[in-house]
Amino acid sequence: MKIGILGGGQLGRMIALAAYPLGVETRLFDPAPDSCGGQVTKLHVGRYDDPEALKRFADGLDAITYEFENVPVDAANRLMHHAPVYPPPLSLEVAQDRLIEKRYFCDHGVPTPDFAPIESESDLREFAAHAGLPLVLKTRRMGYDGKGQVVVRAEHEFEAAVSELGGAGLIAEAFVRFEREVSILAVRSRDGASAFYPLVENRHREGILRISRAPAPEIDPELQSTAERYATGVLTALDYVGVLAIEFFVDNGRLLANEMAPRVHNSGHWTIEGAETSQFENHLRAVAGLPLGSTAARGHSIMLNLIGTTPTTPAILAAGSAHLHLYGKAPRAGRKLGHITLRGDESSLLEPQFDTLSRLIDRA
Ligand code: AMP
Repeated sequence: MKIGILGGGQLGRMIALAAYPLGVETRLFDPAPDSCGGQVTKLHVGRYDDPEALKRFADGLDAITYEFENVPVDAANRLMHHAPVYPPPLSLEVAQDRLIEKRYFCDHGVPTPDFAPIESESDLREFAAHAGLPLVLKTRRMGYDGKGQVVVRAEHEFEAAVSELGGAGLIAEAFVRFEREVSILAVRSRDGASAFYPLVENRHREGILRISRAPAPEIDPELQSTAERYATGVLTALDYVGVLAIEFFVDNGRLLANEMAPRVHNSGHWTIEGAETSQFENHLRAVAGLPLGSTAARGHSIMLNLIGTTPTTPAILAAGSAHLHLYGKAPRAGRKLGHITLRGDESSLLEPQFDTLSRLIDRA
């Protein structure tokens, strides 16, 4: 079995690592020759708009998937002539545009914060008149990790906010004073079977995920089943195959969808040690047409991202039972360099190690 992965970053790298024990071969495609996934499996360097490069990449593959959602839809559609592409490219179209994505959620019964398309300052004025301030203004496309968005707190900021983000092609959202942020990771197989990991609680700083706790502490089972119902609506509508992540705000006990990722997700990295089957393995199983594995948690996990800089490996490993994953990337501000997972049977026992590691990371 040979699986191709569009994108050669850490997610592709971790899918490739999960493929070895299953005897599945992987091959990555990325325009950057130094993509970190290339350190662990074959990397085809090429441009997404080069049909010949895509064809060479696809030669002999049984299925193709992707590890980031900004893969050009044209490239994914073109590759479908060579091998099945999962998740379906429609998932890319939906996830690449925050407006299409929010409308898709609404059309499939998933509540979101109030939103409106913004093409000018007057659109923003109109939205603010009914949604109120503050609000969040975002670019519809190519925003990630908090990039391409500003919080607008007062009317005199409207003009600058709209022009800072390019003047048009924007979306405004009501600012949600959420209790917490959670995500659901769902997986659906080629024959339509689906499974869900327990909800994860996520902490962001400067728009970048820093910490995930899984299962999210003190989750009402009803919130879990609501999240699963919302995810099922999207999985079914897209005739989805693979892992899908949906991020939610918990607002007055209700789930409001913020965004989805049609791929394995940073808030699922804990599953490598913390679940019976990791998200990477389950994604691969789904794409390869294999039976899904159990999504049950093994005790409790806390995942800490290593962003921009990282403490030394001996310092991290000295902090108890830390599972370290470095991605082989050169340090750079804001860059995800690796993550650490703490796993244990009692969540309270993880807290002292978590505090030690947090201090180490802050000082790095
Ligand atoms: P995003 O790029 O949309 O995932 O946003 C990154 C982070 O910004 C989210 O995880 C939230 O912490 C925050 N954020 C985004 N949209 C909103 C919103 N409508 N209200 C409050 N906070 C938000």
